[in-house]
Amino acid sequence: MTLLVVENLAKSFGGVHAVQGVSFSLAAGELLALIGPNGAGKSTCFNMLNGQLRPDQGRVVLAGQEITGKPPRQVWRMGVGRTFQITATFASLPVIENVQLALLSHRRRILRFWKPLAAEDPAEALALLERVGMADQAQRPCGVLAYGDLKRVELAIALANAPRLLLMDEPTAGMAPAERVALMALTARIARESGIGVLFTEHDMDVVFTHADRIMVLERGRLLAEGAPEAVRADPRVREVYLGH
Ligand code: ADP
Ligand code: MG
Repeated sequence: MTLLVVENLAKSFGGVHAVQGVSFSLAAGELLALIGPNGAGKSTCFNMLNGQLRPDQGRVVLAGQEITGKPPRQVWRMGVGRTFQITATFASLPVIENVQLALLSHRRRILRFWKPLAAEDPAEALALLERVGMADQAQRPCGVLAYGDLKRVELAIALANAPRLLLMDEPTAGMAPAERVALMALTARIARESGIGVLFTEHDMDVVFTHADRIMVLERGRLLAEGAPEAVRADPRVREVYLGH
C-alpha cells in the first residue's frame, strides 16, 4: 500500500535552491533512506514533510490526504511522527512517565495538573517500552540513561502517537556503531510489524545498506539516484558524487 506520495517538491532560501523538484513515494512498512552530502537538502525535505516549512512548489499526500503546507501540529495529528537529533525528554521524570505524557498528548487531553498523569494506567506505556526493549528501565529518570537507551525511549515516545509515517533525521547521530545497527534493526522490525513507513537520513553507510529497503541519493537539492541498496551502491554517479570511490 502506498502511504506517502511526494510530487515535485521545491524550496529555496534566497538564492539557494535547497530542494528542486523532488518526487518519490513510500509504502507502508517500508524503510526508505535519504542520503547525500551535507547541504544536499535532506533536512529541508523533512521540514517540508512535517509542515515546519512551506514548500515553494509541489505536493505531499499521506494516505490519500493532502498535507502540503498544513501546520506541524495538524500534520502530526494526521499521523506523521518525527524524531530529532536532539532528544526531547523530561530528564527528571521516569522513562515511563515520559511515555505516558506522550500518550496523554496523543489523546489530546489537557494536562492541567499532576493527578491525571498519576491516575493514568501505565500498561499501555509499559507495552510501548517493552517493544523498544526499555521496560526494565521504566522507573529510571530519563536524565541518567545511556545515550542509546534514550534513543529507544524517544522511539517509544514517537510510537505513542500511533504514527503512519515516521521521519527520522539522523536518528543514530552520536551513537557507537553497534548501537546504531541495533537501533535501526529495532526500528525496522517495528515498522514492518506495524506497517509504519519510515523515512530516515543517516551518515553510516553500514546502517543504510543493511536496513534500508530503498535508498534515495540527494545531491544539491535533486535526486541523483533511487532504488534498491545494491543498485544504488553500484551506480557510478553515486560512487563519484557521494561515496567518493
Ligand atoms: P542537509 O540536511 O542535507 O545537510 P539542508 O536541508 O540542511 O541539507 O540544507 C540544504 C541547503 O539549504 C544548504 O545550502 C543550507 O545552507 C540551506 N538552508 C537550509 N535551511 C536554511 C534556512 N533556514 N535558511 C537559509 N538557508 C538554509
Ligand atoms: Mg540535515
